[in-house]
Amino acid sequence: MEPLPILIAGGGVGGLSAALALARVGRRTLVLERAPAFREVGAGLQLAPNATRILRAYGALDALEGLAVAPTQVRIRRGGDGARLANLSLRDAEKRWGAPYLNVHRADLLSALLEQARANDLIEIRNDATLTGFVQDEQGVAVSYRGRDETHRAGGEALIGADGVRSIVRGRLSDPRTDKPNYTGHTAWRAVIPASALPPAFGEPASNLWLGEKAHIVHYPLRAGAIVNIVALVEDDWRGDGERGRDGAQFWDQAGDRRFLLERFKDWAPEALELLSAPETWLRWPLFDRPPLASYARGRTALLGDAAHPMLPYLAQGAAQAIEDSAVLSLAFLEYGGRDPVKALAQYSAARLPRASQIQLSSRKQGKIYHMAGAPAFVRDLVLRLTPSARLMARQNWIYSA
Ligand SMILES: Cc1cc2nc3c(=O)[nH]c(=O)nc-3n(C[C@H](O)[C@H](O)[C@H](O)COP(=O)(O)OP(=O)(O)OC[C@H]3O[C@@H](n4cnc5c(N)ncnc54)[C@H](O)[C@@H]3O)c2cc1C
Repeated sequence: MEPLPILIAGGGVGGLSAALALARVGRRTLVLERAPAFREVGAGLQLAPNATRILRAYGALDALEGLAVAPTQVRIRRGGDGARLANLSLRDAEKRWGAPYLNVHRADLLSALLEQARANDLIEIRNDATLTGFVQDEQGVAVSYRGRDETHRAGGEALIGADGVRSIVRGRLSDPRTDKPNYTGHTAWRAVIPASALPPAFGEPASNLWLGEKAHIVHYPLRAGAIVNIVALVEDDWRGDGERGRDGAQFWDQAGDRRFLLERFKDWAPEALELLSAPETWLRWPLFDRPPLASYARGRTALLGDAAHPMLPYLAQGAAQAIEDSAVLSLAFLEYGGRDPVKALAQYSAARLPRASQIQLSSRKQGKIYHMAGAPAFVRDLVLRLTPSARLMARQNWIYSA
């Protein structure tokens, strides 16, 4: 009898990467994705070498050729006056870390993964399939999922919850009284605009970072320089519940009020304000995190990506960590899967937990450094100015070389 497939809840970067990884070790998967279709959604993603190295092995990097931009440097500036603090070269990323550093549109990355997945007989993808529950025993896992108008069931050897920060799978594995998404008080305002709407300097192949008190800006060109991705990250003392902004407007699925953002950054350098004034519409993205878990696996079920370790985006590693998860998951299945999927998932969890938790905590710490004010900010800026670029870059080795 043909072995049951491995079920994957969620067809985002994590879920599709997991399907490709498992196919590489000969495992069949069924991906259940809530969205009725894969649409052109999202904004930019910085893909560090620890992610591109794995994507290359999955055959997904070639499709990004001509779409991704390889930044030649990271430019760091002070928000208040635009003073240059550091220029970190990324020219030798491939030589230094064995894989390129790329900025991509999330939709392009998803298309590249999808193209590989659709061409693979071992992977089946069902859209319009929202996982609603599951049970597991020694024989396997049975899931129920909602289709367009009826409930369906499917059986599998194991279940991977790659269903994002509000994971249904995680909700069933952990205690919902202590483990729930927390609004961090940090909000990302995101916009993607044509490069032609900005002076040419904004289209140069660089990742740009502006640091200020309780806020920072990241911007970089995408799609061969045709568009510019802008993220303004704002930290508020006001916490609320993540459902409404300080101005009382609903967060979700609603454009942020541009005037609110411009007021928030009004004391920043003219060039930063010019950038923030360019987009007509902004999407406001409240940032949630969850407490680190003691394990990503229970029995025949495991979590992957944001479902397992959601993180603040300050190291630009969330998607990269989901991609790393997928590679480690497939190695565990290669070692134990045929004989013992429970052992495979336990092994996956044990291998991933220390590193993913460390990156979760380091992302939070990085946010504190970016958002410093007063004397600490002065010292930070001095260190950035005086430390040689190569030494600053070497601090990323533990992340990018993995
Ligand atoms: C402002 C910002 C900037 C970022 N920048 C970067 C960056 O530069 N680099 C980087 O590496 N990361 C970055 N990230 C993080 C990155 O976006 C996430 O870590 C990554 O998308 C996680 O992928 P995932 O597949 O685990 O989850 P998701 O992308 O959330 O995908 C989950 C999928 O599951 C589906 N789903 C949900 N519930 C169900 C259900 N019940 N049944 C079926 N399907 C379901 C959803 O529709 C979705 O397709 C950033 C995040 C933010 C907010």
